[in-house]
Amino acid sequence: MSITESLNTISNGIPEHVKLVAVSKTRSNEEILEVYNAGHRDFGENRVQELVAKAEELPKDIRWHLIGHLQTNKVKYIAPFVHLIHSIESKKVLIETNKRAAENDRVIDILLQFHIAIEESKFGFSLKEIEALVSDGIFSELKNIRVKGVMGMATFTNETKQIKKEFRTLKSIFDHLKVHLGEDLDTISMGMSGDYSIAIEEGSNLIRVGSKIFGDRNY
Ligand SMILES: *Cc1c(COP(=O)(O)O)cnc(C)c1O
Repeated sequence: MSITESLNTISNGIPEHVKLVAVSKTRSNEEILEVYNAGHRDFGENRVQELVAKAEELPKDIRWHLIGHLQTNKVKYIAPFVHLIHSIESKKVLIETNKRAAENDRVIDILLQFHIAIEESKFGFSLKEIEALVSDGIFSELKNIRVKGVMGMATFTNETKQIKKEFRTLKSIFDHLKVHLGEDLDTISMGMSGDYSIAIEEGSNLIRVGSKIFGDRNY
């Protein structure tokens, strides 16, 4: 299947309320343009440097999503234009993002990334940490960020039951936060090439798909 055919197969196979972010990390501008020319505008990158370089070279109406670990000292490079940061995972980065958004006269949309997988290596908040921030009132103080929802990655496993359980945890965190953070919360970013069908069943409305569109990555 060509890139365009894969994109269309996935787009046509998901419910209307689910948004698809094409994960374009490691892909060439030509590959990205193929997806762009099929009418797609949302692209996700996991490294700031790569995202910034591609944003400079590619059409300006692309909506860039940062989906990978964000270091405090790199926030300034994406703050002028990033569409949605999925991977806010510490208070420090939260505050820095608010500061850089203000400098750019913007309100930046963000998702709070939660640690839902068994694996130690995956980044993210715990519910406890977020509850502490909520009761500190930090989210109402930071006027230049808007919390749109949550993001999480399931354990890399074939055990459907485990993946389901982790996605269900993220959905319940979302429901819980919505009570405290309110109206603007409408996004649950969960599901990748291997598990997006399960994610959608468990309440995802934003999936991040790379290899199933572009083919396997060779790093
Ligand atoms: C790479 C990546 C994806 C996409 O992975 P695929 O398995 O290629 O679909 C999704 N989310 C994050 C955070 C990623 O780093």
